[in-house]
Amino acid sequence: MPTKRGPPDPARLDRIVADARRARELRESTYREQALKLYPWICGRCTREFDRANVQQLTVHHKDHDHDNNPPDGSNWELLCVYCHDNEHSRELEAAARRGSADGDTTQSAKHRPFADLAKLLKEGGNR
Ligand SMILES: [Zn+2]
Ligand SMILES: [Zn+2]
Repeated sequence: MPTKRGPPDPARLDRIVADARRARELRESTYREQALKLYPWICGRCTREFDRANVQQLTVHHKDHDHDNNPPDGSNWELLCVYCHDNEHSRELEAAARRGSADGDTTQSAKHRPFADLAKLLKEGGNR
C-alpha cells in the first residue's frame, strides 16, 4: 500500500494556487458587476462618463480599502476611473506614511518647532 505521506505534489500546489486566484478573480468580477449595475458609469472624482467601449477603465474603489468588505447595497464601493483611483491610493499611502513616521505629536512639534525637533533627531542619531 502506498503511503499518503511524502513530499507535497507540486502539481497539487499549483492547482491550489490557481484555484485561489480564480476564486479571487471571480469575487472581484462579481462585485465589479454589481457595482456597475448599481451606480451610473461615472467617475466619482473627475465625473468622466463611461460607456461599453471604455468601461474597463472604470474601476471599483473600496471606501474602507477592505476588498473583502462588499455589502450588497454598494455602500463600500465607489466607481473611479483608473487615473483617479491611482490618485486616491497614492494619497492614502502618503497619508499613511506621514502617520507612520509621525508617531503621535512629532508632526505637530515639527511644524511648530522645526529646529528643536531637528536638534533632538541629531542628538539621537549621534548617540547611536
Ligand atoms: Zn476620474
Ligand atoms: Zn481603491
